[in-house]
Amino acid sequence: MSHTYDILIVGGGPIGLACGLEAKKAGLSYLIVEKGCLVNSLFHYPLHMTFFSTADRLEIGGYPFPAIHPKPNRMEALEYYRRVADVGQLQIKLFEEVESIVPEGEGFYHITTNKETYLARHVVLATGFYDIPNMLGIKGEELPKVKHYYYDPHFYYKQKLVVVGGNNSAADVALETWRRGAEVSMVIREPELGSIKYWVKPDLQHRIDEGAIKAYFQSSLAEVREQEVDIQTPEGLVIIPNDYVMAMTGYRPNFAFLEKAGVQLSQDMKRYPTYNPETMETNMPRLYLAGVVCGGMDTHVWFIENSREHAVKIVRHIGQQR
Ligand SMILES: Cc1cc2nc3c(=O)[nH]c(=O)nc-3n(C[C@H](O)[C@H](O)[C@H](O)COP(=O)(O)OP(=O)(O)OC[C@H]3O[C@@H](n4cnc5c(N)ncnc54)[C@H](O)[C@@H]3O)c2cc1C
Repeated sequence: MSHTYDILIVGGGPIGLACGLEAKKAGLSYLIVEKGCLVNSLFHYPLHMTFFSTADRLEIGGYPFPAIHPKPNRMEALEYYRRVADVGQLQIKLFEEVESIVPEGEGFYHITTNKETYLARHVVLATGFYDIPNMLGIKGEELPKVKHYYYDPHFYYKQKLVVVGGNNSAADVALETWRRGAEVSMVIREPELGSIKYWVKPDLQHRIDEGAIKAYFQSSLAEVREQEVDIQTPEGLVIIPNDYVMAMTGYRPNFAFLEKAGVQLSQDMKRYPTYNPETMETNMPRLYLAGVVCGGMDTHVWFIENSREHAVKIVRHIGQQR
């Protein structure tokens, strides 16, 4: 047993860091435990990704985010959160995964990671949703050519690419790879493009209208094989040659981890976790949720901009209890 804390924060993303800064400001003993690198989800975002938020809306703990352009990119955000962790002298354990959280004795939780065990009076789950992709559930999805994470468009030069999805991520992948010389086809369930950043949508619509990017609307990917894919379209099955499939079908929180910690989830498709929106406390006493994990399958509801306040609500509630 290494140590006892007032608060143990699971997840070193922007909101986990915000919780650490609030805990520190309130004079509480705390520790942030992150299974990957600092802001691991942002690190795994596409290389050239630009946030839809302006820099000020990504700020945490009152630390200013000076950015050259109104909307910062991935590199700037990594720089910013690392500087905040440094200047804020945050207590963080990296590359350490929390495996279980169990109530222990009067008013404590016993936390086991792949390296250590801890005791804490309060636990915050700021575990995000970027680790588990929504699978297509089709034949051939296990092939290495099918990817749910996108990084660098250069890799797809002169490759035949199918992009599945019609929202932000799919739009970025389709345009960036097309501009780097990929032959791009999009498979979109809806009759038109979805919710895409307003400065990106017209660009993609033009490419589709001029035929530079082929789009199959009201369609779905039916099967993937080494050299080709089957697309179910309103006109019937279409078979096209293919090198890579980018399945930009979104991600989901680790529901099994939440349930193992005792958090109740709604029994419908949405899997909404149970928590008090005023305090962020779950059905488990002194166990809180913070950040985008709060949305269940509705991963578009919460983001950094509007979930930063979770840190303030949690620390205020702990302060009131004490
Ligand atoms: C492509 C993309 C663009 C986005 N653009 C914007 C934007 O412009 N503006 C905006 O406000 N939001 C945006 N978002 C949403 C928001 O940025 C992210 O979801 C953000 O990462 C949320 O922060 P978080 O701290 O809640 O979760 P995360 O950043 O996902 O952090 C959760 C952390 O918990 C860690 N973790 C998980 N399980 C464990 C465990 N068992 N033990 C230890 N650590 C664990 C993970 O490794 C991860 O680092 C975007 C999201 C995506 C995917």
